[in-house]
Amino acid sequence: MERDELKARLKARLKEYMEIPRLSGYEEKMARKFYEDMKQYAHKVETDQAGNVIASFPGTDSSVPSIMVFAHMDTIGFVITCITPDGFLKVDRVGGVPEKVLQGLGVRVGSENGSYYSGVFGMKSYHALTPAEKERADGIGSLFIDIGAVSAEEVRGLGIEVGCPVVYDAFYKELLNDRICGSYTDDASGLTTLCQIGEALSRTPHKATVYLTGTVMEEYNARGAMLAQRKVHADMAICLLGAGAGDTPDLKGTNNVALGDGVSVNLFNFHGKGTLNGNIIPRPMLEHLKKSAKKTGIPIQRQAARGALSDSAYLQLEDGGIPCMDMGTPDRYSHSPMEVLDLKDLQRTGELVIEFIMGIDKEFSLNRF
Ligand SMILES: [Zn+2]
Repeated sequence: MERDELKARLKARLKEYMEIPRLSGYEEKMARKFYEDMKQYAHKVETDQAGNVIASFPGTDSSVPSIMVFAHMDTIGFVITCITPDGFLKVDRVGGVPEKVLQGLGVRVGSENGSYYSGVFGMKSYHALTPAEKERADGIGSLFIDIGAVSAEEVRGLGIEVGCPVVYDAFYKELLNDRICGSYTDDASGLTTLCQIGEALSRTPHKATVYLTGTVMEEYNARGAMLAQRKVHADMAICLLGAGAGDTPDLKGTNNVALGDGVSVNLFNFHGKGTLNGNIIPRPMLEHLKKSAKKTGIPIQRQAARGALSDSAYLQLEDGGIPCMDMGTPDRYSHSPMEVLDLKDLQRTGELVIEFIMGIDKEFSLNRF
């Protein structure tokens, strides 16, 4: 019963976070919400110059290593580049937006005063498409957004200007088998896990000092956590970002991660698309995670993948080298407007990280040699 209650609470929080518009650089609404939520649990909650929200949970033994656990508050989306005289909006991508899902898609268009308006990516009427156009995904440069306005003056009258943010429509749907589908589970799931951890830390004494941090700008430059570290100087860090599952017909055989089969951990990631960076898991953290998994009976799913990185790539270079581990709730269709995750995995991610933290004691060593 208690587990069902926890799952219901996680689900409600996940939905709330998924629906908050929070493009990289425009995280304020999310940051304020996360700040208020963490205040219920933390000794101290503060923000830094970059906009990261840091909740501190002092440990009972200052001689054991401290840890920062973080998830990013921002999302991918778009920035307005041009307003046409007849009131359409041209945009560019912010972060890794897949262009092939955009035409006919609903969006929220932000204004300078913070309000959001409904819009849609236009698409040439199906009946007017040539055979070649039917096969093709148009690039962002030829797309446009329609908010129903009839002139540039009307658009500007709402406070919508060049540089304003645009995000996917809020969407949330419950699928079979505890699976949730919708916009921006990336990284609403990680933030939800931070709250689950915060609640546990507020109830149970722990030796290690813990910083639970909501970070900014991950989808833009992956360096928000690096700036938070300059404030807290943690001895190690966990980045809560789930691996992309390889259990759909199009990805079978590429990795062993499946939805519903447990928490994912990245042994290796590497961007490799023009950015020579990634993270290789530090062995002491992996060994401690394996021990925590065994103790809780929570399965971990290993992934080693090229094509992505997280803030860990840059955070690991701070303070003479911070051991970082990427782990979290696996997802499908990442960066699409319909990401899918499994609530059972989400719940177990929190439980596993809580065990990891509780197990940090004097014997725990970060030495690699
Ligand atoms: Zn992402």
